[in-house]
Amino acid sequence: MKYYSTNHNTPDVTLELAVTQGLAADRGLFMPERINPMPASFFKNISSMSFQELSFEVAKKFFGEDIPERTLEKIVFNTLTFDTPLVEVSDHIYSLELFHGPTSAFKDVGARFMARLLSHFLGQEKKMVHVLVATSGDTGSAVANGFLGVPGIKVHVLYPKGKVSDIQEKQFTTLGQNITALEIDGNFDDCQALVKSAFMDEELKKKITITSANSINVARFLPQAFYYFNAWAKLEDKTRKVVFSVPSGNFGNLTAGLFAKKMGLPVSKFIAANNLNDIVFKYLKTGIYEPRPSLSTIANAMDVGDPSNFARILDLYQNNHQAITNEMTGTSFTDDQIRETLLSVYQNKGYLLDPHGAVGYRALSELLRDDETGIFLETAHPAKFTETVEEVVGKGNVPMPQRLQNFMKGEKLSIEFPADYESFRGYLNGLD
Ligand SMILES: *Cc1c(COP(=O)(O)O)cnc(C)c1O
Repeated sequence: MKYYSTNHNTPDVTLELAVTQGLAADRGLFMPERINPMPASFFKNISSMSFQELSFEVAKKFFGEDIPERTLEKIVFNTLTFDTPLVEVSDHIYSLELFHGPTSAFKDVGARFMARLLSHFLGQEKKMVHVLVATSGDTGSAVANGFLGVPGIKVHVLYPKGKVSDIQEKQFTTLGQNITALEIDGNFDDCQALVKSAFMDEELKKKITITSANSINVARFLPQAFYYFNAWAKLEDKTRKVVFSVPSGNFGNLTAGLFAKKMGLPVSKFIAANNLNDIVFKYLKTGIYEPRPSLSTIANAMDVGDPSNFARILDLYQNNHQAITNEMTGTSFTDDQIRETLLSVYQNKGYLLDPHGAVGYRALSELLRDDETGIFLETAHPAKFTETVEEVVGKGNVPMPQRLQNFMKGEKLSIEFPADYESFRGYLNGLD
């Protein structure tokens, strides 16, 4: 399968090039030239399949032409060593728990898949590949842990100083080995801009091989379609309309859902659930896309002022505002509303949300119609945001899974940088 750029200004590339380059030469995002539908038989049998089995079927539709079947099967099965349970929180509202992976956020799925796919493509090559990743918190940990110890790959995590939670920071600053953490004096958008500049730096690219593990990389974002199918598989009543509410930042997750729908998953609507960074919500209302500097909120993984995957959404629907609003609606909530939702769901439903999931839940509680079933993506475990969540539900009420406790024991190691490209470039030039 060939991959084209959303800017349509550079030749199509193979999957291998799309994955190793990350971003297209014309700064566009790669898109698969076709979206192959799943056959009717797949949906008939879906409820009897495991997450791994159904994901392998979906993966073949994207990657089947480019990766030997046995290899792809191994990649999928080794990536998905955990499930994504569907838990009923209130009447017709379900939580799709995506936090059962090693770093307790949904990004484990894409990051683990990408690490294995990249490793497959590198094969016996001797050249070192440098993975650059900008993170607002969870990407860094998922990517760092997904790539930890993978030979031939070094990971450089750029994160905004003082803007990620303790546990998030520990998850990528304590690993050592092939993982380096760069603490940037700026916000997430600055980190993302530094990474993008590196990809445009032709001189640098002659010297070292770099790739991106942000959701701009097709190997990270396409596998996120897997769990939309898994949610459907687990849904008992498949006769009602299904609405997915997706707490969104860079919009990789939501875009993967749109792909799942194009493959035949019967989704009635998507809700782009935003915090105060409501750029897409505004677009849905007005048809005007106006990026802004991001605002800091308590749902910090969604503090994005210029969501990179929005280009993919525009491309999927040929820039047609009407076509896009047929597929999705939006909402935006303040920090106070997020806290209020966290508390009321905890007290009244006995379910502990994380701040991002709370945005998703609230969107459903306000927008769901009587004939619809709502599924919100619970994108991270609440213990990843212990400080914020404890402030709302009280100290001692946020149990931390063992796998997160283990991270807290490590010692933080990072290199501090100002948010300017010249310093970052100097660092990159020193790599081999
Ligand atoms: C990354 C992240 C999001 C936003 O996902 P996008 O794909 O960037 O829209 C939401 N919640 C959590 C917990 C995240 O880590």
